[in-house]
Amino acid sequence: MGQGLSCRSSDELGLFSAVQLGDLETVKEVMGKKSALVHCSTVYDRNSALHIAADNGQIEVLSFLLEGSVKPDVLNRHKQTPLMLAAMRGNISCVTKLIEAGANILMFDSRSGRTCLHYAAYYGHSGCLQAILSAASTSPVAASWGYSRFVSIRDRKGATPLHLAARQRYPECVHILLDNGALVSASTGGYGFAGSNPLHFAARGGSLDCIRELLAWGADRVQRDASGRMPYTIALRHHHEACAALLNPSSPEPLVWPSSLKFIGELNQEAKSLLEHALMEANREKEKMILKGTVLSPPSPSPSDSGFDDNMSEVSDSELCCICFDQACTIEVQECGHRMCAHCTLALCCHNKPNPTTACHAVPLCPFCRSSIVKLVVAKVVKTENDIPRKSWRSLNLSEGSSSFKGLSFGRMGGRGSGMIISENEWLDKPLTLAT
Ligand SMILES: [Zn+2]
Ligand SMILES: [Zn+2]
Repeated sequence: MGQGLSCRSSDELGLFSAVQLGDLETVKEVMGKKSALVHCSTVYDRNSALHIAADNGQIEVLSFLLEGSVKPDVLNRHKQTPLMLAAMRGNISCVTKLIEAGANILMFDSRSGRTCLHYAAYYGHSGCLQAILSAASTSPVAASWGYSRFVSIRDRKGATPLHLAARQRYPECVHILLDNGALVSASTGGYGFAGSNPLHFAARGGSLDCIRELLAWGADRVQRDASGRMPYTIALRHHHEACAALLNPSSPEPLVWPSSLKFIGELNQEAKSLLEHALMEANREKEKMILKGTVLSPPSPSPSDSGFDDNMSEVSDSELCCICFDQACTIEVQECGHRMCAHCTLALCCHNKPNPTTACHAVPLCPFCRSSIVKLVVAKVVKTENDIPRKSWRSLNLSEGSSSFKGLSFGRMGGRGSGMIISENEWLDKPLTLAT
């Protein structure tokens, strides 16, 4: 690794500055004169030329070095690989190139026992995070370690990448990690902030979006750390009032991404993001009530607030959901082909709280024909004459004053003063109670 070499000669300094600047011609020239220079490292951090290229995002130089005799996993003083530095800096092309060249994603540095995945999460580089996860799912790591174990890998203080992304306020990284099966309730064990789960870390960081994501994936608000503190207590202590309001165990519980959806054979990406969007929107609606009292940290504006009128006119042009008569049908159930809106689909799938003994078998059923839902896809908009009577239904509902059904919450469905809706609600209940 060349730690024995101290780099004080002008050739060496010239090489390092050329690598840093991405001056490929000079790099080639210097290396042509003295090829052993490639194994040289900087005096203090013992960074190799490959580290410097990765750190500075110099993809051309990095590719050139890798094509030569440089091994991708050369280590610096802190046992950090070039891949770790690229992940810290968010140099996605370098991350991809290093992985292609066979860089090991399962290396731990000596500073804090972190992997490249920890660094991508800590610095909020979602592209790098995704690239490393994709590599992990197909590389030998998945076979030897297990993919899910890698996603929730711990550093020396017991923190998983999810802890770090939540602490550093990166909701997109939190989302990607959860989507890839990161353990939402992973504990740091006896290390660092002992017994903390990602929600404790998010409470410390104070990002509402991170807290929303974690809660929607089933994070437990009442789980205590080793000092007996709930995330709520930590948020209060760090003066994150709005976060504390959501974390307060006496606040209404948010909707949780239904575990039953995991048992639908195929949920395509488009349908999934529609449902996720509906879930987050429903939760924001609940939040408005919760956050009303928090003066210091007003809720972040919901994108749906301003656009609601536009949505209404869009709805009138497409097929209305026959369950709520408020939203457009965006989700189609297959095989049967029945349609409903994303909100109602979610309500159907997370109507029952997960029951540890029966949840595994609760495949959701179509509320119209009670056949098992094998697939959820995005409904294509078809304009038919059938829209006309449905529109009148909707305008009737609107004239009764129920202007918004966005904040769909269970138990509210029957409270709309419409006999039709109540009977639909009972109908919704049946298949689920029968299924248990
Ligand atoms: Zn609906
Ligand atoms: Zn059906």
